[in-house]
Amino acid sequence: IKIKVTKIDVPVAVASAFEGERVRKDAMFAEFGGNKTECWELVTSGDPAEMEDHKITLIGPDIDDPMFAGKDVVRLPLGIVVTVGGKAMQKDFETVLERRIHYFTNYIDGAMHVGQRNIAWIRLTKEAFEKGFRLKHIGEVLYAKMRSDFEKVVDKCEITIYTNAEDVKRLGEELVKPIYAERDERMGALTDESVDTFYTCLLCQSFAPSHVCIVTPERLGLCGAVSWLDAKATKELDPEGPNQPVIKGQAIDAQTGRWEAVDKAVASASQGAVEKVTLYSILEDPMTSCGCFECICGIMPEANGVIIVNREFSDISPVGMTFGELASMTGGGVQTPGFMGHGRFLIGSKKFMSAEGGLSRIVWMPKELKDDVAERLNKAVFEMTGIENFADMVCDETIATDSEAVLEFLESKNHPALAMDPIM
Ligand code: SF4
Ligand code: ZN
Repeated sequence: IKIKVTKIDVPVAVASAFEGERVRKDAMFAEFGGNKTECWELVTSGDPAEMEDHKITLIGPDIDDPMFAGKDVVRLPLGIVVTVGGKAMQKDFETVLERRIHYFTNYIDGAMHVGQRNIAWIRLTKEAFEKGFRLKHIGEVLYAKMRSDFEKVVDKCEITIYTNAEDVKRLGEELVKPIYAERDERMGALTDESVDTFYTCLLCQSFAPSHVCIVTPERLGLCGAVSWLDAKATKELDPEGPNQPVIKGQAIDAQTGRWEAVDKAVASASQGAVEKVTLYSILEDPMTSCGCFECICGIMPEANGVIIVNREFSDISPVGMTFGELASMTGGGVQTPGFMGHGRFLIGSKKFMSAEGGLSRIVWMPKELKDDVAERLNKAVFEMTGIENFADMVCDETIATDSEAVLEFLESKNHPALAMDPIM
């Protein structure tokens, strides 16, 4: 029997209208993640026969715990496990549901959610706390939304929220990371050539009306949150939804990644604003960028290569601009040859601006980003060029940021970009 869930039993309002709400420091009561504590989230499927629908469990202290008396801000580690069960549930749907944690939490008046997976970051306001909002209410909201928005596949839903430092750390390592890794591995095994269908993503048209992401196995959505498997699963879950298939057919130009079917799909989905895109070139009709890209890649002409800056990096880059400045010229749903927004996971894809020489063009990245992507990047560059430990040839802010010093470093490392054809 399916029980329909409509009412959400929480002391604050929950509506998509609150989605854009930011929680600033002075209004903040509690914070999870944001580089201060560990914070992760996971949707996993369970056996409905063994599940108890609407079971919400908090393991660890809540935000009203006496130990926080007199503290300015309540800071706790946080791990959220949403277990869903249903006859029509599929493993491929897990990531799609997991991404919705971001939206559902943002619907809460008095909550802000940023990021995903184990870089999630949540803030709650003093006002929400005073109205009686507690951690179990996050569970109530997630429960109700998972059940109502995914009623076709979710018959039962349990939520467990961990705030014990020990549990959050241990489960983060033993339960969560292996699942993230397994998903990435599955995705990594697929190539653009191995599928006959790409997907559009139109989710960001609410604020960038002409923006269309084309999601392929080797090029995920630029927000980093929509892989090809996610797009495929979303189409199954929500046939009229934001991800529509593009049967790709023969490429017009395999080098730059140009397909007639893709051009048609983009032209129609952007209402004619964008007529042509390539999937593998940063110079020739590159894909548009909305605003939620994890990274921006831009050409550094004097180095004959490109730099990549991630959102978290706030200092100036070797092209003389910060992430924010780069974002203001790259975003908004327009094509900006020479610049493109992309997901972190694209760094390590053999299709990364392969028309211009690919990954070996990367000359500079912030250190945190470089360390994060090094393993996949090294593997891909080695397979493509035979160069070992490529990440060590890529400059970062701890080595140099001004153009001349970056060049000196690249020369000292004999960086391959220096010997490649002129990039422009
Ligand atoms: Fe979809 Fe692209 Fe927006 Fe991500 S950035 S939600 S893939 S349109
Ligand atoms: Zn976007």
